[in-house]
Amino acid sequence: MALFRRAVSLDEAISVIHAALAANPSAPLPVDLQELSASLRRREPLRAVPQPPQDILDAFPEPVGVLESGCRFIASNAALDELLAGRTVDRTVLQATRCAELDEAVARALSGVCERREVTLPGLSKTVQAIATPLPESRALLMIRDLTAQKRAETVRRDFIANASHELRTPVAAITGAAETLLAMSLDDGERAFTEMIARHAARLARLTSDLLDLSKLESGQWPLEMGAYDGITVCESALALVKERAAAKAIHLGADVPPELQIRADARALEQILVNLLDNAIKYTPQGGRVTLLGDGAGDHVIVSVIDTGPGIEPRHQQRIFERFYRVDGGRARSDGGSGLGLAIVKHLTQAQGGEVGVESGRGGSRFWVRLPAA
Ligand code: ADP
Repeated sequence: MALFRRAVSLDEAISVIHAALAANPSAPLPVDLQELSASLRRREPLRAVPQPPQDILDAFPEPVGVLESGCRFIASNAALDELLAGRTVDRTVLQATRCAELDEAVARALSGVCERREVTLPGLSKTVQAIATPLPESRALLMIRDLTAQKRAETVRRDFIANASHELRTPVAAITGAAETLLAMSLDDGERAFTEMIARHAARLARLTSDLLDLSKLESGQWPLEMGAYDGITVCESALALVKERAAAKAIHLGADVPPELQIRADARALEQILVNLLDNAIKYTPQGGRVTLLGDGAGDHVIVSVIDTGPGIEPRHQQRIFERFYRVDGGRARSDGGSGLGLAIVKHLTQAQGGEVGVESGRGGSRFWVRLPAA
């Protein structure tokens, strides 16, 4: 019978071997012992998994932690413990943060996928950006940036702009009304010139405050979009009708080429504002006697509407920046033309809110501003 099958315990097996070797030190080892020794030689040595270096984690200014499978923290720095209001080591992400989305992000990083998310930590009322990165040995590194103060500052800024624009509307309307009343009276040339200047600047101020109000509504989600299916031709014609007089005043030829079957999925008010802003710019920057064309085009499940002008064009270095607030290629001229510097920023926000994209192609012969929106 084999040695280990006879032996009831390891001690007993060792005594049996001792007894056998005492009787005959050169006796061959029992077969099962030879197998055991061969197995031991084949066995890979146990590698100790290195502990994450605490001094490196502590040197990070941002909160960081290392996690292992089961989304459990095995190391953290003081900044993370402070952010999560307690010691994180040995706790799971769910226990430490009560945030299922963060737990999911870490689980994905543990399975080898890098994750970056903005999440709210419920118990702590904090908004953070979490970056979870896979590490060797089935671990993950979690880095957190506390965005709470930044978000609060953004809300304060947005509220301030919204309140200030709202408060400015009434006095600006009163100035406009008073200037218009004066202009209807008999004035001498000097008085008329000054009153016209007041009316012009009041109109500019009114546009600026209303654009600022629109932008802050868009940013804070207070511009609810009602998406519906709209006939491309009808939408384009009503936008052209709104700018017809401005084009005529500069003898600009307005044209449209929109296929009859074009159906756009959009919010009617937002779409009209996008087209009017783009057409207004095209008319404003195109010299007397030029041409502005509205083009509609179906592209699979998308529709592209372009406003093409024969204006001065925009240099490549300005083309991406003109969608930023108050960015003007020629500050002085654009301002004196009555622009708020916010028109394209509003176009960009409105297009993105409807699941679309906006862009520009421009050269010496003019510009083409395009908006891609879902087809209905
Ligand atoms: P603004 O009120 O100054 O027109 P926008 O945000 O609408 O503000 O446009 C930003 C800038 O982009 C403008 O100041 C102008 O320099 C440039 N721009 C916009 N549209 C055109 C265009 N069709 N042709 C040339 N330049 C343009």
